[in-house]
Amino acid sequence: MPGLPRRAVVPLPDVSIPVPGAAKPPVFSRAEWGARPPRTGYTFTLARHIGLHHTATVEDWAAITWEECAARVRAIQTYHIDTQGWNDIGYAYVVCKHGHVFQAREDDDDSTDVQGAHDGFNRGSTGISAFGYFHPPVNHQPTEAQLSALVHLTAWIASRRGIDPLGRSLYAAYGSPVDNVYGHRDVSATACPGDNLYGRMEALRAAIKDRTLRRLY
Ligand SMILES: [Zn+2]
Ligand SMILES: [Zn+2]
Repeated sequence: MPGLPRRAVVPLPDVSIPVPGAAKPPVFSRAEWGARPPRTGYTFTLARHIGLHHTATVEDWAAITWEECAARVRAIQTYHIDTQGWNDIGYAYVVCKHGHVFQAREDDDDSTDVQGAHDGFNRGSTGISAFGYFHPPVNHQPTEAQLSALVHLTAWIASRRGIDPLGRSLYAAYGSPVDNVYGHRDVSATACPGDNLYGRMEALRAAIKDRTLRRLY
């Protein structure tokens, strides 16, 4: 039935409760990809939701080498700062099609979350964007390496912040309950993260949950 939540809404505790689980995947630092500093100081928040995006840019997908992917992350940052007028790149992490994870708007302190600019609300959410254009007319398909990296990254964030990847809870800045791992289109009038990624999200959530329950990594 459209409009009804697919999951029970469970009130969140007032504090983040880390649970044992997934380890941090390899993440390329801002220094490694050559980030500019933010224009001003960051605002901090506590991530209780994780929003997924695609970059919707064919040039990102065309990048072949790591250096080319790093250059695309710099291009996204330049666009967000110089064209959008934002403080820094909007996302917290970017994942290229080779499965490399780039630290985006972050402060090298995993105990805090830097508030990003990724879904129009931002407070209480962290944004991850995948290189690709996952809907018509381009219709890229996320790669297995990319999906795997998204699972590893998101499972680590979920473990660290005590977020249930299969849960649904109030996204206060948005004003309604949202899946704890949601797609941008769940909160905004946008096609993001594209049909070909959005359609994989139920399987992604299950894989993320599975990884947070294992301690083998
Ligand atoms: Zn988006
Ligand atoms: Zn790459």
